[in-house]
Amino acid sequence: MKDTFTHKGMRKKLVDSLRKKGITNENVLEAINRVPRHWFMDSGFLDHAYVDKAFPIAADQTISQPYTVARQTELLEVVSGDKVLEIGTGSGYQCAVLLEMGVQVYTIERQNELFKKASLFLPKIGYRPKKMVFGDGYKGLPEFAPFDGIVVTAGAPFVPKPLLAQLKIGGRLVIPVGEELQIMTVFTRKSEKEFEKTEHGEYRFVPLLGDKN
Ligand code: SAH
Repeated sequence: MKDTFTHKGMRKKLVDSLRKKGITNENVLEAINRVPRHWFMDSGFLDHAYVDKAFPIAADQTISQPYTVARQTELLEVVSGDKVLEIGTGSGYQCAVLLEMGVQVYTIERQNELFKKASLFLPKIGYRPKKMVFGDGYKGLPEFAPFDGIVVTAGAPFVPKPLLAQLKIGGRLVIPVGEELQIMTVFTRKSEKEFEKTEHGEYRFVPLLGDKN
């Protein structure tokens, strides 16, 4: 796996473009600057790795657009040492960005092909999540809860209750909610029973799939 000056230069430009689009958290931008996104895509698609677009991976899924990864990471408001649950491992790119920020990452993927691929690939390139799980993200990971942050990287038709229940007090759930189009929504746990909700614009994700599909 190579990460040449050309790749680094392209990445720097991508980071500049994300800054222009309104990403302000320098820790997030620095993490994106460090992760070789081209490693997470099939070779031959280098031209696509450092433009701000989503791109097909295997099993009808996509690696999220860099802006979306940056924005979701920013909305999580994580600091080094935080414990974060990711729903939808996919290519492993978002996971790698969180690991670069010093976060302890737990990640769940429901498609076996993607789960296996990411489980082998991430450690191979030096990224070590705390836990990678093959399972259903709607349920979260109660055995490892509570989390400082939970990030859902697929469009959720509704907000899964177990995910809210697995937040620490002060913790944040960042979740795109909707069917065709999703509203990026943040739930902050204020107390055992109270959550504050804020909305952050429209996105288009692949759907968060349930038991029936
Ligand atoms: N975070 C990924 C984005 C992947 S796209 C990345 O950086 O590449 C969304 C992913 O969510 C897909 O891999 C899809 O298979 C997965 N997914 C969909 N429904 C899920 C569910 N119920 N539980 C866990 N993962 C799910």
